[in-house]
Amino acid sequence: MCSRLAPFGTTIFAEMSALALATGSVNLGQGFPEGPGPELLRRVAVQAIEEGDNQYPPGAGVKQLLEAVSAHQAAEYGLGYDPATEVLVTAGATEAIAAAVLGLCEPGDDVLMLEPSYDSYGAVVAMAGANRVPVRLEHQGGRWVLTPGALERAVTDRSRLLLLNTPHNPTGKVLSDRELAEVADVCRRHDLIAVTDEVYEHLVFNGHRHRPLATLEGMRERTVCISSAGKSFSVTGWKVGWACAPSDLLGGVRAAKQFLTYVTPAPMQRAAAAALMATHELVPPLLAELEANRDLLAEGLAGVGLPVRGAEGTYFLTVDISAVTDLDAGTFCRQLPHRCGVVAVPCSVFYQDPEAGRHLVRFAFCKSRASIEQAVERLGRLEGGW
Ligand code: PMP
Ligand code: GLN
Repeated sequence: MCSRLAPFGTTIFAEMSALALATGSVNLGQGFPEGPGPELLRRVAVQAIEEGDNQYPPGAGVKQLLEAVSAHQAAEYGLGYDPATEVLVTAGATEAIAAAVLGLCEPGDDVLMLEPSYDSYGAVVAMAGANRVPVRLEHQGGRWVLTPGALERAVTDRSRLLLLNTPHNPTGKVLSDRELAEVADVCRRHDLIAVTDEVYEHLVFNGHRHRPLATLEGMRERTVCISSAGKSFSVTGWKVGWACAPSDLLGGVRAAKQFLTYVTPAPMQRAAAAALMATHELVPPLLAELEANRDLLAEGLAGVGLPVRGAEGTYFLTVDISAVTDLDAGTFCRQLPHRCGVVAVPCSVFYQDPEAGRHLVRFAFCKSRASIEQAVERLGRLEGGW
């Protein structure tokens, strides 16, 4: 393995899902729902396959999906993107992020990102030969915050790009208007490209709302706005994503994407288009289910001495384990399945310096009600016996 990738090893999600399987544990580690996915998506994908839509689609994406993404951005956020030149379909958001970093950064550029950060960010920045520059979210008064001035302090004359994830994995934080305004201000003043990972755009709970950075003044022209079908429509295995940006910026993303996967499977693109057009039927029931699961899990964790930090959106919530154990998060998570049959993920993997996430553990609540109930019951057995 090349030295650039050696530090990243095997992803925590693969490791923890394998451990869940081996120990018969409830898997609250990797973020994927347990159901079969909405009937609409399955039907349209099967129909597309049966109709023979099985050869390479156009490189930018199938027309129906390009138009559906464009219509979605306009209807949800008032953002206008020309489907012919300003939208690109990718193999999940993961590829869009990778293609944006590979296609827009020079070796040696600085890439800013909120920390904790999704695991692929550090790896792809390393693949591009760029430098990862983390900007820590802090935990204050029960909420995660981007401290005023923290982003500005991290900017150097090598800063090229900011990778921004909101709603945020793993914290569940949704960036506030104040935080977004500050991010936009820093990007404009330092001429940064913003690459926004908005895969949880529709998974936002009570009172919070998702606002794309591209909607702020002067930001559309410098932002690559990324999302995917996996989370909004409960088909995480499909890997249909997209990027929207002005055509000059999107050109860099396209240049890299064409040599990564070239295209994304056509039948899934057609089904994702149908899903996007039905966003308002598909998302509300999912949101209600997720919110109820989040509350049940949060209550269960608080009941065993692990109060929850945040959880304004996404599939995830985090807890600080230092109240109940001296173990680091990695050891704790590797022991938990053996001790009580529950799998979670150590947040240390989301930090450049794993020590910074030493006490932080992430639980996914995008599972069936029965799984959450079972996990709460199993965790309850540990009470007082951590
Ligand atoms: N970004 C974040 C923050 C994620 O949690 C995930 C995991 N789904 C992805 C990107 C990857 O999305 P996709 O499966 O569409 O590649
Ligand atoms: N996004 C999912 C999570 O954070 C995992 C995706 C993956 O396995 N790479 O749990």
